[in-house]
Amino acid sequence: MSTTEKNNDNLLRGGQFIVKETKAEDVFTPEDFTEEQKMMRDSVKEFVDREVWPLKERFEQHDYALTEEIMRKAGEMGLLGVAVPEEYGGLGMGFVTTMLVCDYISGASGSVATAFGAHTGIGTMPITLYGTEEQKKKYVPKLATGEWFGAYALTEPGAGSDANSGKTKAVLSEDGKYYSISGQKMWISNAGFCNTFIVFARIEDDKNITGFIVENDPSNGISLGEEEKKLGIHSSSTRQVFFSETKVPVENMLGERGEGFKIAMNALNVGRIKLAGAGLDGQRRVISKAVEYANERIQFDVPISSFGAIKLKLAEMATNAYVDESASYRAAKDIEDRIALRLKAGNSHQEAELKGVEEYAIECSILKVAVSEDIQNCTDEGIQIYGGMGYSADAPMESAWRDARITRIYEGTNEINRMLSVGMLVKKAMKGHVDLLNPAQAVADELMGIPSFDTPDYSELLSEEKAMIAKLKKVFLMVAGSAAQKYGTELEEHQQTLIAAADILIEIYMAESAILRTEKNAKRFGEDTQKEQIAMSQLYLYHAVDIITVKAKEAILSFSEGDEQRAMLMGLKRFTKYQNMPNIAELRKTISNKVIAENTYPF
Ligand SMILES: Cc1cc2nc3c(=O)[nH]c(=O)nc-3n(C[C@H](O)[C@H](O)[C@H](O)COP(=O)(O)OP(=O)(O)OC[C@H]3O[C@@H](n4cnc5c(N)ncnc54)[C@H](O)[C@@H]3O)c2cc1C
Repeated sequence: MSTTEKNNDNLLRGGQFIVKETKAEDVFTPEDFTEEQKMMRDSVKEFVDREVWPLKERFEQHDYALTEEIMRKAGEMGLLGVAVPEEYGGLGMGFVTTMLVCDYISGASGSVATAFGAHTGIGTMPITLYGTEEQKKKYVPKLATGEWFGAYALTEPGAGSDANSGKTKAVLSEDGKYYSISGQKMWISNAGFCNTFIVFARIEDDKNITGFIVENDPSNGISLGEEEKKLGIHSSSTRQVFFSETKVPVENMLGERGEGFKIAMNALNVGRIKLAGAGLDGQRRVISKAVEYANERIQFDVPISSFGAIKLKLAEMATNAYVDESASYRAAKDIEDRIALRLKAGNSHQEAELKGVEEYAIECSILKVAVSEDIQNCTDEGIQIYGGMGYSADAPMESAWRDARITRIYEGTNEINRMLSVGMLVKKAMKGHVDLLNPAQAVADELMGIPSFDTPDYSELLSEEKAMIAKLKKVFLMVAGSAAQKYGTELEEHQQTLIAAADILIEIYMAESAILRTEKNAKRFGEDTQKEQIAMSQLYLYHAVDIITVKAKEAILSFSEGDEQRAMLMGLKRFTKYQNMPNIAELRKTISNKVIAENTYPF
């Protein structure tokens, strides 16, 4: 439960964070978990520590049956039905609890994380969100309990990022009773043990594909390729699936004809934020293992954790994990609150859930990119801290690094998600859902005006950091606003600019989320309890300012010249200027000393 009741005034719309200030008391943080949520977290953690972590080696041996067994056990505990309404056999819990389960179940093995995500997110969710009452009654209770498992078959050899270009066909039978589906799907997670596929196919020459619920029955023209030989997630079943005149009753069409692309994309929105959730506990575990090793490993007669070079790494790893947690749970609660508001306004559960998640599609893409890249860096530095042992398959870092790599590719590649985040924001602005135009105009006017030479009072905790965030938002508006004006409807052709703008957007959301979490906690628990969290917020922001400076400059140079360019570069300098530069080495020491003293990820 939130500490404040949300209404349409204090709950921002998706993407609106870039033009509005969020108050610390309005963000949800992991420290706001209810007793019920904490119990859920502890029981999932206990399950993973008991059932998954000790078997890490077996997960490297392509033991697909082990993943299936873990999934079945998770089903028995109710963990597969956390997000499923009670009337369909689930626990009917809110979005935050759903994220929390996804977070803690995913930390020990990428194979389990992938199987869980594919089943609960993209394998089950499309039916709960778009299914008819009959479809939901027939399939969801089985999927929610783990009696059946689900998979999601969108990708084809010729249709990856361009998902709507699939060639799989669905032909209506002469008696109008069933569709006959033929085509080839590839990279299908859970294919080896699933009972249902959500299959996307094209009817006649429709512009958009259509979704179907297809039961996995080999006697009905369904065959599987061999297990793919993959870099990581070795015990996650990934196969090609061939459909040859597979008969699917017409009542198994999901949503309307031609609605499949929309369903596929909305399922991916949920999948994306959950993938961010799935990248959190992995980071905590890697950091904990890395610091344990660093405290034990002696070189030059001292533990390697006493070296500044190692402290630097631990501090950066912990900071990213803290920031990722802050932003993931902030967005999850916004989604939960939006769903609650829609229910209050009379929407059906299905519609409220659908629109609630869709509203925050920008944040879902931002989180997917940020967390997948942080877990990659975290595991990479984990290997480095272990030195030669890090490269050995006998130590936990090697498989963590390989498992983490997939998160930048599936659920939409990070390139696609970067471009989507800015593209969706521009679309929202055009629809009038987020006013970018007036704030962008205000920034343009400010650029032409004389800057204030007053010295602001930054004595209050994190006040300079918050002022910095406000200025960084102006950088985004300046860059994205000018690019949109310059390129108009052709903006999407200018991918390098879009990617630069996306990086600015991502850094702002992540940095702001950590600062607000820390401010909220400092206010209620006391500033002295948040010493390291303050340092992490400041350290992250410092890097964010650097990234934003580089990306904004790159974009400005690409689309402007002359006086306009000079004005924007001066604006960039003004909007990225600290009054008091932080001492980065000291911040890192503060953070790493805590991690080292606690011998675990302690935040
Ligand atoms: C282990 C694994 C599990 C998977 N599980 C599933 C599953 O369960 N169900 C399912 O349907 N799919 C699944 N996938 C497929 C996955 O979603 C796709 O691999 C992914 O969407 C990328 O598609 P692609 O591989 O065809 O790459 P491509 O689309 O060919 O992309 C190749 C490169 O080009 C870039 N690119 C592509 N288009 C553009 C563009 N317009 N602009 C700029 N850059 C672009 C990409 O970012 C990428 O870097 C899985 C994949 C893997 C590897």
